[in-house]
Amino acid sequence: MPELGRRGVIARYGHRMAIDGIEAPVTLCEGGTPLIPAPRLARELGLGCELVLKYEGLNPTGSFKDRGMTAAITQAAADGARVVMCASTGNTAASAAAYAARAGMRCVVVVPDGKVALGKLAGAVAYGARVVAVKGSFDDGLRLVREATETSGIALVNSLNPARIEGQKTAAFEICEALGGPPDWLCLPVGNAGNITAYWKGFREEVSAGELPRMLGGQAAGAAPLVLGRPVERPDTVATAIRIGNPARWTEAQAAIDGSSGLVAAVEDAGILRVYRMLAQLEGVFCEPSSAAGLAALAGEVARGAISVTGRTVVCVLTGHGLKDPDAAMASARPCVAVEPRLEPLLEAASNG
Ligand SMILES: *Cc1c(COP(=O)(O)O)cnc(C)c1O
Repeated sequence: MPELGRRGVIARYGHRMAIDGIEAPVTLCEGGTPLIPAPRLARELGLGCELVLKYEGLNPTGSFKDRGMTAAITQAAADGARVVMCASTGNTAASAAAYAARAGMRCVVVVPDGKVALGKLAGAVAYGARVVAVKGSFDDGLRLVREATETSGIALVNSLNPARIEGQKTAAFEICEALGGPPDWLCLPVGNAGNITAYWKGFREEVSAGELPRMLGGQAAGAAPLVLGRPVERPDTVATAIRIGNPARWTEAQAAIDGSSGLVAAVEDAGILRVYRMLAQLEGVFCEPSSAAGLAALAGEVARGAISVTGRTVVCVLTGHGLKDPDAAMASARPCVAVEPRLEPLLEAASNG
């Protein structure tokens, strides 16, 4: 690849990943996403910290899943796989579909029927995946995909696949590089819990034990197994990417939270959507609703006095792009206004908010 702009996480960090095939990576030049300071939002939320947003929506298919998928598909290619499969709430599906297309593999994605944001489904279909909608939850889909891949020779590319963690841990490396060291806190949404596992692994490989950041996981109140300490039979939330009742990497996520003196907190949908709108309208950073759950959890914990982040550096991971879920955007903002093609109605509309 020419060395213009982003090179992809295997080109940069492949020597630190426990995967095969790094000499022939399947890449879309993922990673290298910006850290965006968010001082207005920090002030408005009363955080008192230096708040920085890791905008993972700027990855090639619009979510952090691309970091893990370049690694998983590169490994699958090295293993000679011809077909890959995943269960997904949407972003894994779009990412797997894109990287599989690039590798010349077939891709089968299993999604919960009717619960996938439009932009994600559009991606998966556009990249040519076989999309199967299961009449059940993500958790049902993952159970089926685990069974299907055990015996069939089809490669599983969910975050149960260790290569996914190897790829996703690179975001922790990038944060330390950009800040000149680790932050004090890392906030992120937690669904199937692969990402919190990956960040924790990345930080432990990058910095000494005394410097490790505290991890703060945000879950939606209607899908908060880690907060409740038990699986949730029928998870439900507007934050569809974290609509998961029984996380595959539950144990690892708990280890990250305990090991970092961190915490996991639940946020109602209204709280998630409030922070989702504030991110866009105070900072110009448009993420999908799920992505706001980490910051919403932080704001909630600070507001009720459970923690203080005054004077600290806090990195919030915004996991996916806002355009992934156009329905959520349209439903949670002011409607457009139509006017006759004359000056007066235009000026009138312009002066009303
Ligand atoms: C996958 C995803 C999550 C949840 O990540 P896990 O690794 O499943 O915990 C959160 N937000 C977005 C946008 C996602 O795509």
